[in-house]
Amino acid sequence: MSCVFLLAPLLLLASCRSLPPAPPPAAAGEAPSIRFLLTFDDGPSIRQPYNPTLAIAAQLASNDVQPGIKGLFFVQTGHPRGGGTPAGRAIMRQLSEQGQVLGLHSVSPRGHIDHTQVTASALVRELREAKDLLHGLTGAPVLFVRPPFGAYNPATEAIYADADLHMLMSDVRARDGVIYGYNASLSRRIHIRHTLSALRKQVDTARYADEPVPVVVAFHDVNPYTARHMTEYLHILIEEAARAGFAVPARPFTDTLPEVMDIAISRSIPNPRNVVLAPRITAALRAGAALHAGTAAAPLKPAPATVF
Ligand SMILES: [Zn+2]
Repeated sequence: MSCVFLLAPLLLLASCRSLPPAPPPAAAGEAPSIRFLLTFDDGPSIRQPYNPTLAIAAQLASNDVQPGIKGLFFVQTGHPRGGGTPAGRAIMRQLSEQGQVLGLHSVSPRGHIDHTQVTASALVRELREAKDLLHGLTGAPVLFVRPPFGAYNPATEAIYADADLHMLMSDVRARDGVIYGYNASLSRRIHIRHTLSALRKQVDTARYADEPVPVVVAFHDVNPYTARHMTEYLHILIEEAARAGFAVPARPFTDTLPEVMDIAISRSIPNPRNVVLAPRITAALRAGAALHAGTAAAPLKPAPATVF
C-alpha cells in the first residue's frame, strides 16, 4: 500500500511543473473518455493547525481544474488518534456535509488492523458499530469498504456482503501511504503515467467497454504532502490521462453523489452475494442523493462483468 522513491529531493519537488506539457486531449470519438473517482484512505487526520484531511476537502471544493469534486473517504472510525476521537468525528461529519461520501477502512479501536487477522465475530461487530457510527454522524447510508492493506479473503468478503458493504479497491495508487521526509512528485507522475497507460491498453483490448472509463484513484488523506499537493495531483491525473490516450472531458472528476455511488458500485469487487443487495443499494443511493445533493439519483448502470 505504500512506497517511496528517494530521489534528489528539492530538485524533484520543484520539477513537476517543469515537465513538457502533456499533449492535447484526443478529439471526441477518437479516444475513450475518462472519469476519475478520487478516494482517500486512513483518515480522518486530526492534526492541527494544518489538517490534511480538511485541506484536501478544501482543494476538492475549490481548484483550477474542476471545482466541486466529490470523492470517497475510507475512514478509520475507531482510530485512537483519528476517527475515534471527538475531533475526528467532527471532521467526518464535516466531510459528509460537504458532499463527500464516507466508507469504511479500519474499524478497530486498535487502529489500522488487517481484517483477515480479526476473528469473524469481532469483525462483524466492529463493522456494524462503524456503520451505525457513520450513519449517526451523517445520516447517510454506508455502502463501501476498502480493507486495510488491501487484504481480504472469502471469509471477509462474505462478512462484507452480509453487512451490505461493497468492497472497492483502486486502479491508480498515489503511493503516499507512508510519510517520509522527501516525497518526489516526479516519481509519482511517472507511476501514474505508467498505470494509466496500462489501463488504456486494457481498454483497447476490450477488457472494459464502458465509457467514460471509470478510473478509481487512491490517496491517503492523512499525508500532509498529499494534502499540500492535491491540486497538483489533479493536474497530473488529467495531463497523464491525455498522454496515455484518453479523451479528457470538461469534467474529468466525479462531482455528484450519484456519480460517486454509481462508479463505486460498478467497480466494486464482484461478489455474487452482492447481487441480492441491488434493491437496497438503489434505495440507499436515492436516499443519499436526497440527503447530500438535493438532486435526483441517476439510475444505476449494470455492473460490468469484469474489472481491471
Ligand atoms: Zn490504510
